Amino acid sequence: KYAVDLNFSHRLVAVDGPGKRATFLRTLPDGSSETRIEVFDMLHVVPPQVAPDFIRESPLADSAGWVDVDPHTLRHRKYTNVHALGDVANTSNAKTAAAARKQAPVVANNVLV
Ligand SMILES: Cc1cc2nc3c(=O)[nH]c(=O)nc-3n(C[C@H](O)[C@H](O)[C@H](O)COP(=O)(O)OP(=O)(O)OC[C@H]3O[C@@H](n4cnc5c(N)ncnc54)[C@H](O)[C@@H]3O)c2cc1C
Repeated sequence: KYAVDLNFSHRLVAVDGPGKRATFLRTLPDGSSETRIEVFDMLHVVPPQVAPDFIRESPLADSAGWVDVDPHTLRHRKYTNVHALGDVANTSNAKTAAAARKQAPVVANNVLV
């Protein structure tokens, strides 16, 4: 409706503020990459989302740094007395409070089992 397009696999690598140009590195399906420069009026940048260091550096984390849980039970795949929900879990859902709200009763029930 607003002609806003999603551009996955793009990483912002440089910003020329005075020139109003943002440089992105785009990863192609074959693993190679190409540079893409966009001219902007306003640039709103957020950093890549990551788990806190104390999780990323712990045995609880998967190779990407998220707590490694079974997506159906939210129980840790290795440490069965650990459960995780919300942004820190490695489930494939969008990291939203809406998702965490749905995950909370799952964890509550499975902790009681
Ligand atoms: C700008 C923005 C807008 C959003 N809008 C929406 C929206 O409209 N709808 C929606 O559903 N979701 C939205 N979200 C996502 C939503 O905020 C998150 O998905 C949600 O807050 C995740 O909850 P969480 O409890 O998993 O993690 P968090 O809310 O990040 O809570 C983690 C808590 O752990 C604490 N903590 C960190 N390290 C330690 C430590 N070492 N010891 C003790 N405590 C620690 C942190 O201080 C924090 O309070 C938005 C997020 C952002 C950033």
